[in-house]
Amino acid sequence: ATPTAVMVATGVGANNGVLIKGGEALERAQKIQYVIFDKTGTLTQGKASVTDAKVFTGMGRGEFLRWVASAEASSEHPLAKAIVEYARHFHFFDEASATSQTPSKESTISGWLLDVSDFLALPGRGVKCFVDGKQVLVGNRKLMTESGIAIPDQVEHFVVELEESAKTGVLVAFDENIIGVLGIADPLKREAAVVIEGLLKMGVKPVMVTGDNWRTARAVAKEVGIQDVRAEVMPAGKADVIHSFQKDGSIVSMVGDGINDSPALAAADIGMAIGAGTDIAIEAADYVLMRNNLEDVITAIDLSRKTFSRIR
Ligand code: ADP
Ligand code: MG
Repeated sequence: ATPTAVMVATGVGANNGVLIKGGEALERAQKIQYVIFDKTGTLTQGKASVTDAKVFTGMGRGEFLRWVASAEASSEHPLAKAIVEYARHFHFFDEASATSQTPSKESTISGWLLDVSDFLALPGRGVKCFVDGKQVLVGNRKLMTESGIAIPDQVEHFVVELEESAKTGVLVAFDENIIGVLGIADPLKREAAVVIEGLLKMGVKPVMVTGDNWRTARAVAKEVGIQDVRAEVMPAGKADVIHSFQKDGSIVSMVGDGINDSPALAAADIGMAIGAGTDIAIEAADYVLMRNNLEDVITAIDLSRKTFSRIR
């Protein structure tokens, strides 16, 4: 392709919200054999919301949510934000309707939350802290088993049920005992399944990578039409997944939005960041998809193929 053709293609990309960082990135995209998608915020909308809250003891739901939200209030994780929002809603709307309070939409729960000490965010696991002298753990199975907390059959069954319907189960323990579970759903982006189908038709293999558990990951992958899944990948492990695909000389693209994804975006032959993602991801990528629409992964590959191959 002539320098003019590259310039024109870059302009066409920009007009469609596909920012390409240089002619080399534009040229490489035609060779993509694998597209590795992050799950949360990339294939899914990244709008997690609590759909289930089950308490396994005699504790009231409002009190349970108060403790859990107190523990999660200092976490930046999307799951934590969903939990705090759900607790806020429950406190002001469900409980208030019984006590004739009239809360505003902006009412905050900071005054309702309990004091937390020794807060610890454990990447890929959850949070750990003390509330009112009690140790509170909120997170996945790994967090519980690593802390020596047994998961009763009844709890395990409920978590499995959530995971099979593509939800994430968040376990809650007070001291040594699991007392409740929250189910959190994050819907797929509307275009996700169509894009996966399109890539397959183009001869490109889609893969999903996530820190979430295997069962939820498989359920989401099935919904979207992805066969190849890598789950329970620790935050540092996504780049290793990229390297494993590159081992035989394959050309690999990574599409992601989070801080967690930036090493993988940099490791990939072609990193594509979701425009709504974190700055660190955008910086690490070769492409930025400004419309936050996965169809632009196809636009990017098409543009490169059309610019660099003579017969198309
Ligand atoms: P990803 O963004 O790829 O889904 P993360 O590494 O951020 O993965 O998280 C992996 C898993 O760790 C989550 O699915 C969840 O089970 C658990 N986790 C992490 N942070 C929290 C938190 N603040 N509260 C509850 N669970 C958490
Ligand atoms: Mg993500």
